[in-house]
Amino acid sequence: MTYNGSVAELVKVRIPKQYRCAVALTYDTDMANGYSPLDNPGCHGRTAPFVADYMRQMMDHAERFGTRLHFFKIVNGLEKGCDYSVYQEALARDHDVDCHTYGHLNLAYTNPEKLDVDLRRANLLMQEKLEVKPFVLRGPGGYPPGALGPDSRSVILKNGFRYVSGQGTGGMEYKNNPGDSARDSGAHPPFRFLDGLIEIPFHGLTDRAFLDNIVADDDALTEFRKLYAHKSVPAGWKCTWTVPNALDRLIEIQKSSVDYAYKHRLLLNLVQHPYSHYLHDPGHRHLCELLDHIQSKEDPIWVGTLRGVIREMIEPYNGHKSQ
Ligand SMILES: [Zn+2]
Repeated sequence: MTYNGSVAELVKVRIPKQYRCAVALTYDTDMANGYSPLDNPGCHGRTAPFVADYMRQMMDHAERFGTRLHFFKIVNGLEKGCDYSVYQEALARDHDVDCHTYGHLNLAYTNPEKLDVDLRRANLLMQEKLEVKPFVLRGPGGYPPGALGPDSRSVILKNGFRYVSGQGTGGMEYKNNPGDSARDSGAHPPFRFLDGLIEIPFHGLTDRAFLDNIVADDDALTEFRKLYAHKSVPAGWKCTWTVPNALDRLIEIQKSSVDYAYKHRLLLNLVQHPYSHYLHDPGHRHLCELLDHIQSKEDPIWVGTLRGVIREMIEPYNGHKSQ
């Protein structure tokens, strides 16, 4: 069949029967280009201490709710001289850490040979430094349905990944009506390409798309980058480029995404960024209010990592096809 512009078939996601739906909480831990110095722009994985501290607090909150988080790491931050202890800590605390490529390359739009070199290097470091083997790959920047071509997929499979989570645009397709993104989990369920690779699209708005793009004042963000690019902000600092209720709106829309998945018994795969939340959400309102909302439902909702989803809801019901 042709699904979402690709020759593919839907995979079964079997939500355990005691749960109504499932929510994966995933975080791309980029030192994002959007907050980088104007004279030295770029995105990298050398997680700054203030972002690492924020991640530790996120884990504290998640654990208080009895759940775990899934971090996707740009692997160049595991090179010699980098402090990656927060990822070792995350694994020791039973959270998941997986690969977000070595150099933040877009899976769909990068030359496959270049992607091959990147993923090989990423795998070596992930195994050597974190003892994580390739399993699920988060695609940087996202791509629309149909964009991940056969040559790119073949490189991804060759490097040992059986799952990819890169389809999605962070919600930019809902730019004019962000509330519509609440239905994204229904429009984009997981599917398997005929070569065997399983795509688990991510859903709805990302913090970066909404807070730093859709409702952002570009000039104010540029001013911020002159002062605080990839640096910590002073205590009490308030974000200067969004409207005052922007975080409330993001939280409300994502609660609606949970409601939609609940109503239709779907998998909702959310992607956020610790660095964005450090700036927009120093009190961790997003994570705590979302988990509160999830736990307030009459029927239980499964919540956890994408590895958990794959292990419990996909792998047992979908035999793997070899290449
Ligand atoms: Zn990224």
